[in-house]
Amino acid sequence: VSAARNWRIEELTQANPNAVVSEFASDVLTTEELRQRLSKPVWKSLQATIERGVALDPAIADTVALAMKTWALEKGASHYTHWFHPLTGSTAEKHDSFVTPTSDGTAIAQFTGKELIQAEPDASSFPSGGLRATFEARGYTAWDPTSPAFILRHANGATLCIPTAFVSWTGEALDLKTPLLRSIEALNKAVLKVLPTLGLKDVTKVSSTLGAEQEYFLIDEEFFYRRADLVMSGRTLFGAKPPRGQELEDHYFGSIPNRVLSYMTDVETQLYALGIPVKTRHNEVAPGQFEIAPIFEHSNIAADHQQLTQQVLKNTARKYGLVCLLHEKPFAGVNGSGKHCNWSMGTDTGLNLLEPGDTPHENLQFLFFCAAVIRAVDLHQDLLRISVSSASNDHRLGANEAPPAIISIFLGDELSDILDRILSGEGGSGKSAGFLGLGTPVLPSLPRHAGDRNRTSPFAFTGNKFEFRAAGSSQSISMPITVLNTIVAESVSDLADVLEGKIAEGLSVDEALLAVVKDVYGAHKRIIFNGNGYSQEWHEEAAKRGLLNLPTAIDAIPHLTDKKNIELFSKFNVLSDREVEARQEIMYDIYFKTVNIEGETTEWIAQTQILPAALCYLGEVSAVQNSKAAQGLAAELSQVTDELYEALNVLREQNAAEGGEAVHEKSHHMRDHVLPAMLGVRKAADKLEKLVSTKHWPLPSYREMLFVK
Ligand code: ADP
Ligand code: MG
Repeated sequence: VSAARNWRIEELTQANPNAVVSEFASDVLTTEELRQRLSKPVWKSLQATIERGVALDPAIADTVALAMKTWALEKGASHYTHWFHPLTGSTAEKHDSFVTPTSDGTAIAQFTGKELIQAEPDASSFPSGGLRATFEARGYTAWDPTSPAFILRHANGATLCIPTAFVSWTGEALDLKTPLLRSIEALNKAVLKVLPTLGLKDVTKVSSTLGAEQEYFLIDEEFFYRRADLVMSGRTLFGAKPPRGQELEDHYFGSIPNRVLSYMTDVETQLYALGIPVKTRHNEVAPGQFEIAPIFEHSNIAADHQQLTQQVLKNTARKYGLVCLLHEKPFAGVNGSGKHCNWSMGTDTGLNLLEPGDTPHENLQFLFFCAAVIRAVDLHQDLLRISVSSASNDHRLGANEAPPAIISIFLGDELSDILDRILSGEGGSGKSAGFLGLGTPVLPSLPRHAGDRNRTSPFAFTGNKFEFRAAGSSQSISMPITVLNTIVAESVSDLADVLEGKIAEGLSVDEALLAVVKDVYGAHKRIIFNGNGYSQEWHEEAAKRGLLNLPTAIDAIPHLTDKKNIELFSKFNVLSDREVEARQEIMYDIYFKTVNIEGETTEWIAQTQILPAALCYLGEVSAVQNSKAAQGLAAELSQVTDELYEALNVLREQNAAEGGEAVHEKSHHMRDHVLPAMLGVRKAADKLEKLVSTKHWPLPSYREMLFVK
């Protein structure tokens, strides 16, 4: 551990970390701030755009741009950028200076309405999945006024960031934000349609709400730079399991090491300035693993904030001599990292539609929306699975780790019991019924808080929201949330029609609601599973129930373009068929590139670092005369080194092979041939790590990386 690092820690713990609350959102152009800077008519017009999605009046653009610029200059910004979410899953920025030269040789700070509303980044290097042939490489970014502009700071200045959508000139979405916004609107429409029937007549807008918990690892940067695998692929491609893994379970919720706490505080201070309401921090299950979670927000803003959180986590670590690993599985044999997406639906009147209520009618309302989610998840298990598919997340899902690749819902015993009783008619349904207060005073209360916790389910009801736990730690939450919004929009919309039908047949609203809940639960009960999702029995049981099991990304991605999915996305105007196809292409491409880099890196490290170390040590040991120990060791070393050599030859061959022309063929080759060949090399190398003297071993060990705090 270097002296430089200790020095940094000292410096940082001396700084005052707690200038927090008054700084909240200080770098955000909040709607309040913007309102104060605009005249009343301009604000009214803009407000209609922000709150009701009315198209922006171009006549006010210059005025708004001026207000934005003035604010940004006051904050010390020299540049502005349209900030967007290309299909790579990260964010992109192209900075332009405010400075514009004038004819008299001086310069002024300028930012026009045109520049605010639209920009044209050189789009040719962003993936488009064939949506934008390179000869018409143009794409443009368009201001998203529903997510506030903010300032990103660096050591020598600051930049005004304007959240934008990124689309092709033909109007196709080249980004993750556009479909997310469309899905938010689809959900809004579907739910608004049914609310009057449920007696909620004053609601004018429904939003999906989202709180994403982010898990991550921290390791000392000295180790990071000595590991080409971490640098190149974000995960260790080699490494013998340490003698002490998670066995002691003393890390989870344990006291947070000092350097880490300083780091977390720094991260939080920056996130507060960006208006990101981070709430909790703690150690996670694995050694060296931590979590940060915000309070939930409107899901479009939550998605922007989640990207910023990842960025700040990564950037800030360097200041503390640490590296933040957001990869889903940086260390084999150690718990991986997820991004739990807590999701619900909220109204502009302040209601959470997944909050159990106090009256029988409210409870039926709640059960109606629950039923819609249950139905949606059962009908579209594939889409949820696809939305979290990547080469890196494959090491969690489908591997021996939570959550499994099989999508199911955990409801908890209480809620399941209530639904079971509705289904069996126990307590009755219909007019004579006693259940849920219909007809008699009996009113079983619904769970206000999920009493029982289940960590193994990919999709869990947690009292007043659902938690989608299969999302990976490094991914954008936009795709999973786009899928959730869309599939629930569909179910709410379908069930609203059924509900209307039953009411037209003469049932009361409550009777009709109860009947809908009963039908849905009866038809989709198979998706509910309250047991242990890790177990082999569940895999067998799930197969019996006919649930999908798509263990790898390569099993899942083909289903994205299934007819039902193309139709669903197009029906709700979330993605056109071409946009769906493009996303599939890009998912394959990213998969292929990821594993390809890993395969080459494995070969490189094995060939140039591990094999030489093993041979060198073997030479030394063999040179020892008259020692039984040396003889024995040399024999063992020699054997395992040969194993490594042979495995390496296999990997080389697979790395050199193409597998085919098309990107899906290349991806299959990666999964079926390159990954197993990499594992072969790793197996021999990890054996060697336990034989070769540490003096010769070229890579920092798991023991060092995970336990040096
Ligand atoms: P727990 O799951 O332990 O009950 P919390 O209630 O703190 O934990 O919630 C965990 C995450 O879920 C937080 O990010 C929180 O903001 C978020 N969350 C809570 N309510 C909602 C909601 N209505 N919609 C979306 N996310 C929510
Ligand atoms: Mg967690």
